[in-house]
Amino acid sequence: MRLFACDHCGQVLHFDNRQCVRCGHRLGFVTEQLAMHAVEIDSDNQWRIVGAPQSTVRFCANAALDICNWLVATDDPHEFCVACRHNRLVPNTGTDEGLSRWRRIGQAQRHLFYSLLRLRIPIPNREQDPQGGLVFDFLEDEIGSDGSIMPAMTGHEEGLIAIRAAEADDLTREQARTSMNEPYRTLLGHFRHETGHFVWNKLVRDRNAFDAFRVVFGDERLDYGSALQFYYDNGPAQGWQLNFISAYASAHPWEDFAECFAHYLHIVDTLEMARAFGIAIDVRGHEGMAAEVDFDPYRATNAAQLVEAWIPLSVAINSIQHSMGQPDSYPFVLSPAVVTKLEYMHGLVQQGPYQP
Ligand SMILES: [Zn+2]
Ligand SMILES: [Zn+2]
Ligand SMILES: [Zn+2]
Repeated sequence: MRLFACDHCGQVLHFDNRQCVRCGHRLGFVTEQLAMHAVEIDSDNQWRIVGAPQSTVRFCANAALDICNWLVATDDPHEFCVACRHNRLVPNTGTDEGLSRWRRIGQAQRHLFYSLLRLRIPIPNREQDPQGGLVFDFLEDEIGSDGSIMPAMTGHEEGLIAIRAAEADDLTREQARTSMNEPYRTLLGHFRHETGHFVWNKLVRDRNAFDAFRVVFGDERLDYGSALQFYYDNGPAQGWQLNFISAYASAHPWEDFAECFAHYLHIVDTLEMARAFGIAIDVRGHEGMAAEVDFDPYRATNAAQLVEAWIPLSVAINSIQHSMGQPDSYPFVLSPAVVTKLEYMHGLVQQGPYQP
């Protein structure tokens, strides 16, 4: 993610801003430019981008409930923006809890879409690809007659991504994180991981690109159900840290791929923000601990370039977090085997040739 500037007054804007804090202009996100703009009302539902009088736009239909602030071209027949038009089941907007959950979920979802659009990853919806297009269900938990909670399941199947809406609540998500013994659990992380499964379908399976995948991740024909069951019964194998980015990645090659895709986005997107702030790391007396993001991370030469900047930066961010009494922001270690997987991922999403 990067920073933006108000078209009216030049104030620095953040991706989640709805209004310029200096001049009060309403802000909307133009997906064609992947940029935030100040807008002024034209007529009825039509808005104009400040400084571009010819450009008429309208807000995504989900702006009515302050869930989304992405813009749609006036000649676009769709009432929703390019992110929200992938939604099928959404939280109950009749309750404050449902609205607040959906606002958090939508924010994380649009952050994911920013990265997908930046990387030009194909994201057909179900109108364009009825069998395997990308579609989201945000599911409520079921409450049994005795008051017991049946948690909705987060997961992916043939382009359908289900997100447990209750994970928008910090308490629920933190309980899930500690009970699963995970070092990191966020809504954005869920979106990035589950989308990794969709990307595997589209860029590996549907392109019959199994050979290169299996060289790096192993054979995904290993029975998925029993592999997962084995993982939940026995935990990860000793020494998993040498080969996997997370314990869960060791459960099955599909999960390994989804985890690596999520981490590729974590790294690229955080480096882009570090670049926007001009952050450079230079630890006196430690030559290996220097980094400057003097390149566009979304168009990096290779994953090695990303990793070279990411390791010093993530160590610095973790240390800064500790000074605030917070846990690691990035509680992971990039082993050489994981860097090889990220190199594969880079080649795949950038559509370049992959050379092991
Ligand atoms: Zn402004
Ligand atoms: Zn929208
Ligand atoms: Zn998964």
